[in-house]
Amino acid sequence: MENKVILTGDRPTGRLHIGHYFGSLINRVKLQNEYETYVEIADVQALTDNFNNPEKVRKNVRQVVLDYLSVGIDPSKATIFIQSLIPEIAELTVFYSNLVTIARLERNPTVKTEIAQKKELFGESVTYGFLGYPVSQAADITAFGASLIPVGEDQLPLIEQCREIVRKFNNIYGDVLIEPEAFLSSSKRVKGLDGNDKMGKSLGNAIYLSDSEEEITKKVMSAVTDPNRITKDTKGNPEVCMVAYYHNLFTGKDEYEKVLEECRNGERGCVACKKELSSNIIEFLRPMREKRRYYEERPEEVDRILIEGTEKARIKAKETMQKVKKAMKLDYYL
Ligand code: SF4
Repeated sequence: MENKVILTGDRPTGRLHIGHYFGSLINRVKLQNEYETYVEIADVQALTDNFNNPEKVRKNVRQVVLDYLSVGIDPSKATIFIQSLIPEIAELTVFYSNLVTIARLERNPTVKTEIAQKKELFGESVTYGFLGYPVSQAADITAFGASLIPVGEDQLPLIEQCREIVRKFNNIYGDVLIEPEAFLSSSKRVKGLDGNDKMGKSLGNAIYLSDSEEEITKKVMSAVTDPNRITKDTKGNPEVCMVAYYHNLFTGKDEYEKVLEECRNGERGCVACKKELSSNIIEFLRPMREKRRYYEERPEEVDRILIEGTEKARIKAKETMQKVKKAMKLDYYL
């Protein structure tokens, strides 16, 4: 790879959970060793559907950065920055908005699905900002010259939209922007405690990386199990049990096989099975909780990481902006 820059990030709308961990964070911790990595805390994007709740976004910027540091995103390898502190992203968004039609944005399958899910917020007519967030994402990606974007399948249309904008820009103004490629991650989506395909804050079915031991135990105790099991001797079906599903993530292979076998043979009680799982999850998350506590107790260190990361990101974005303005004949007095 000639250009080895990747951009990842999260919208700061809540603490990160084990779905984020297995779905993307674990991958980012590996990628930071191989690529020049930018990690964006996308507060501006979070406001597109939380514009009426800025406190929530502000508060969660801190939570997300603590989650990043706790899982091992290393600020000496990855540049962690706050989106709203890079005004070049907003500027690029304005320039790119000429290169995409409303109809094309409305056809974007990812945006279409999200708009349908946000009927309560938007009513019959979506905001210009939300409809246009893929344009802002194209600005995020190109500002740092990112060539690889780790995404799940559901986000592929956003990368395609960005690629179209880049091609159009380069066609009209000259070869300035790097066309990114999606980097499909092999990581899996983790189901919620209630069996829902998605784990999420709004669904109330998540285990957060920062949950206390008591919270984890309480949540695991409420997880959906095989409803047909009445007594410990009833033969169970672990295929329909979320406890078995999580054992697969947090329990060693041999132990996991034992869980399945004992459940099927009616040799395992659900309460004991849940207790075993919660203790495995607690142990798995312990190093993350400890690291998080270290940074929680040193807020000035977290500030320094964010300030330095944002300064570094801004330098890169300014370089891109100079090239963009030159190509667009907007380089007055520069
Ligand atoms: Fe689920 Fe364990 Fe109960 Fe089987 S024994 S139904 S795997 S909780």
